[in-house]
Amino acid sequence: MKFKLNCMAFAGTLLVSVGSFPITAQASVQMPTISKDSTLSKECKSDGWNEPTAPRHLYGNSWYVGTCGISVILIASPQGHILIDSGPANAYEAVSKSLQAIGVRMKDIRTILMTHEHHDHSGGVAQFQKESGAVVRVRKDAFQSMRTGKADPRDPQFRELAPFAPVANLKIVSDGATVKLGKLAVRNIPMSGHAPGGSGWTWKECENGVCNQIVFSDSLGSISDDVYRYSAKGGMAASLRASIARIGATPCDILITGHTGASDILERLDGKAALVSKVACQQLAELGLKNLELRLQKEAETSAETPK
Ligand SMILES: [Zn+2]
Repeated sequence: MKFKLNCMAFAGTLLVSVGSFPITAQASVQMPTISKDSTLSKECKSDGWNEPTAPRHLYGNSWYVGTCGISVILIASPQGHILIDSGPANAYEAVSKSLQAIGVRMKDIRTILMTHEHHDHSGGVAQFQKESGAVVRVRKDAFQSMRTGKADPRDPQFRELAPFAPVANLKIVSDGATVKLGKLAVRNIPMSGHAPGGSGWTWKECENGVCNQIVFSDSLGSISDDVYRYSAKGGMAASLRASIARIGATPCDILITGHTGASDILERLDGKAALVSKVACQQLAELGLKNLELRLQKEAETSAETPK
C-alpha cells in the first residue's frame, strides 16, 4: 500500500512536470498574422533572387516569406515553426523582414528544411540557423555540401556553383521520412537529379474543413556546367528520371517551386491564377521529363560528333 501511494505520488509529479512544460512552451510561440501596418509592397519588378516582396498567406498555417524570385515557406505551429529554404545569403534581410511583418520571431523557428544545396536556395540557411538555433534537416546526399558550404563534385553544376556559409546543427533526414514538430508533419520526397541531395516536401493544410496537400517540389532542371554529362557513367539521368516520376505521382493540390516563375506561385497567391490545381505536379513532371529527354538527345548528338 505504501509503495502504491509513493508510486502514485511520483506519477502525479511526473504528470505535472511533463504536462506543464509543453503548455509553457506553446504559450511562448507567436503565431503569424497578416500585419495591417506592413510597409512591404507586393510589387515585383523582376524575378530577382533578393528582391523583397510582401509576405503572403499561403493556406492553413503556411506562409510565403520568399523574395520575388525565390520561394521560402514558413509552416507555423504553436510548438514552433518550420522554415523551408532560405533564399540566397543576400536575401536574408528581405526574408527576415517578411517574417517580422507577419509577427514571426526568429527563436520560434525550430526546424529548417531545404530543397537543394545550391546557394540560391540555401545560401542563407547558415544565418537563419544561427539566429534561430534551429535544427537543419537534410538528406544524406546534401549533408557534406551544407556542412562545408562547398559544391559536391557529383553536382551537374559543380564548376559553376558559388560557395556559401557552412551550416551548423545539421541532422540527416532519411529519404521519404516525415519530419514532425508538434502537430506538423512534413514528408520528404527524395529528388536527386538537379542536385545530388535534392528534396521535395509535402504536407497537409486545412481551412474551414477544406484540406489541401501542399507540395514544395525541388527543381527538375537538367542544367549543368560545360563539362558535365547527364548520360555519362555515374551521371544523374536515372536519379532525375526517378525524381520526375516521384513528383508526378505525389498527391498534389498546391504546388510551390523553388524559383517562383516555375509555378507562378506569386501570381497564384495574388489571385491572378488558380492556387489549387490537381494536375500542377503532373505538368511539372511532364515538362521536366521533356527537358531531360532533349538534354540527353543533345548529349548523344555531341558525343557522336566528338572524334574518338
Ligand atoms: Zn539549383
